Amino acid sequence: MLMRKKGFKKNPACSMVEGQKGVIHEFFAGDMNHPKSVEIKKALEDLLARLKHQGYKPNLSSVPYNISDDQKKQLLMAHSEKLALAFGLISSCAGCVIRIVKNLRICEDCHVVMCGASEITGREIIIRDNLRFHHFRDGKCSCGNFWKPPETCCSRTAFPKLHHWVILLAHEQVLMSFGLQEK
Ligand SMILES: [Zn+2]
Ligand SMILES: [Zn+2]
Repeated sequence: MLMRKKGFKKNPACSMVEGQKGVIHEFFAGDMNHPKSVEIKKALEDLLARLKHQGYKPNLSSVPYNISDDQKKQLLMAHSEKLALAFGLISSCAGCVIRIVKNLRICEDCHVVMCGASEITGREIIIRDNLRFHHFRDGKCSCGNFWKPPETCCSRTAFPKLHHWVILLAHEQVLMSFGLQEK
């Protein structure tokens, strides 16, 4: 349906979000081609500044490349799902659920940002990545924050360890296959 043929060619990270009147907007990592890219960047910077004020630190280990920390921060900030989130925040009415579809797996840093964004904006955010649904509400995700070790999960402490590692292994494979496009 929305995953057009070209999306499967090299699998660049791509997130889609619904804008006004049901129009679907597509964002690629580092994409500044959207007509509202200036507003999107500002909304994202504002959001990240508020999150940093609450203790958020960019998770540089989510960038599996040998580049400088500053470059890692820039790559992280331009992840497609963050751009889609920022667009969703400025283009939908307060209280509307923001729905995003991503063709690859959401990274740990974006997952933390989505949790925080759901808390400080009061918005519900639903992301469907290539493995599962993530439903962010009041600072927590329905997946039980399985990125973290099971004992520190914020909403589901009994996450099965085996399942946890299977997912981590699957993630490694996704990164290896798509690594260079996942920016
Ligand atoms: Zn990310
Ligand atoms: Zn989640």
